[in-house]
Amino acid sequence: MSPGEFRRCGHAVVDWIADYWQDLPSRPVTPPVTPGQVADRLPAQAPETGEDFGTLLQDLDTLILPGMAHWQHPGFLGFFPMTTSGPAVLAQMLTAGLNAQGMAWATNPAATELEQRVMDWLADLMALPDRFTRGGVIQDTASSAMLVALTAALWRRAGEQWRNHGSGPGYTVYTSTEANCSVHKAVRLSGLGDLQLRRIPVESHTQALRPDLLRQAVEADLSAGLTPVAAIATIGTTSTTAIDPLPAVADICRSHDVWLHVDGAYAGVAAICPELRWINDGLEHADSYSVNTHKWLLTGFECSPMWFADPAAVTQAMTVTQSYLREVTGDPRQAPDYRDWQIPLGRPFRALKLWFTLRWYGADGLRAHLRRGVELARIFADLVRGDDRFEVVAPSPFGLVCFRLRADCSVNAQLLKRLNAGGDILLSSTDVNGRFTLRMAAGGTATTADHIAHAWSRIRAEADRLTGTGHR
Ligand code: PLP
Repeated sequence: MSPGEFRRCGHAVVDWIADYWQDLPSRPVTPPVTPGQVADRLPAQAPETGEDFGTLLQDLDTLILPGMAHWQHPGFLGFFPMTTSGPAVLAQMLTAGLNAQGMAWATNPAATELEQRVMDWLADLMALPDRFTRGGVIQDTASSAMLVALTAALWRRAGEQWRNHGSGPGYTVYTSTEANCSVHKAVRLSGLGDLQLRRIPVESHTQALRPDLLRQAVEADLSAGLTPVAAIATIGTTSTTAIDPLPAVADICRSHDVWLHVDGAYAGVAAICPELRWINDGLEHADSYSVNTHKWLLTGFECSPMWFADPAAVTQAMTVTQSYLREVTGDPRQAPDYRDWQIPLGRPFRALKLWFTLRWYGADGLRAHLRRGVELARIFADLVRGDDRFEVVAPSPFGLVCFRLRADCSVNAQLLKRLNAGGDILLSSTDVNGRFTLRMAAGGTATTADHIAHAWSRIRAEADRLTGTGHR
């Protein structure tokens, strides 16, 4: 593709994306397709000769789009939003054009230094504790952040023993029963077994980890001669956006030299709003903290900022020297070689889209966006509370509302199925205290109060049909 052709096709692509965003409301939020239907329409082999770019875009429209779930759709209320924005998409396009790889400072000095600077900016915007200054790195996902944190924790606790002999059966890790599945995965991937992960029960109303039970578990393990390595607390659990009591958890961790990783994947960025900054309480004792700006902060997938109080713990755990990296290995006191802060060797220039997004919106614009999500959830929760056939089953401080019909789980499951079959909205479900519960997640950029009102009218109408009652 010549530069001239690229220019022409590139303009067509930008037009395509703008049209797509505009036309989204007219599409079904999830596709009415069955497994294999998309693949069956695709040729079995790659073409022998090159094809025209116009044909590619046409096939995107006719073969691919009908099989897409539209995460940017205003009725996409099922999972935590995965927000993107014009500046983020354009920055991603620039990143793709530059296509420079920043595994070391020397392989991309500007990307490394921009990453350091924007991570400090974000820490400042979120009013994070000073201990995280200069300790930031952008991971691909919160799951990677979890595994990296656990690796650093194992290194800090067991040092050479761990590095030479790996994870033994004596190490234990703690988290709540409500923690994201990525904790479980990270435990397995770090060489620990399922039985070495202690799932601490939560308080039934708040769904937050019970620190009294955490303390008991840690002390029991110590008495049994085991070695508690790490605890993972969550600000905004996936199921209900519960917030674990960080100060109490941190207190236990400090008493026993247990690494505290805090997972704020979805909700952590809410601290950009001063009125939600209370969620940071206790973070001043965390060893590592991660959030996803690709969820609620408009940067598009994937972008997972993570901070370490002591980056040396992670670099010492992860550094592997190789002769072929000799020329690109620097002095970590001068500049980071980010390959030692993450799992892959290579890394894209993710800082660019964070930089563009923070600058385009400014702190004010970001706050307005976050507040819109919180406000839509409040409107929705009020509507639910106003109908006594329904209940809101967990606190909803952010953009998620967990609710259910006061009826059997099977009726709630049927309600969800009927709602999602309509194609205009998508909700999801979880279990709260063992009961089937629906989740409504606001915060997508296209969702307005009208869409929330529409979702609620659909929910009420389906409830009428299912229960044979009207709104009382
Ligand atoms: N932690 C929490 C609280 C989440 O809600 C999620 C995803 O929804 C994750 C971790 C995993 O995020 P990722 O897909 O970035 O690995």
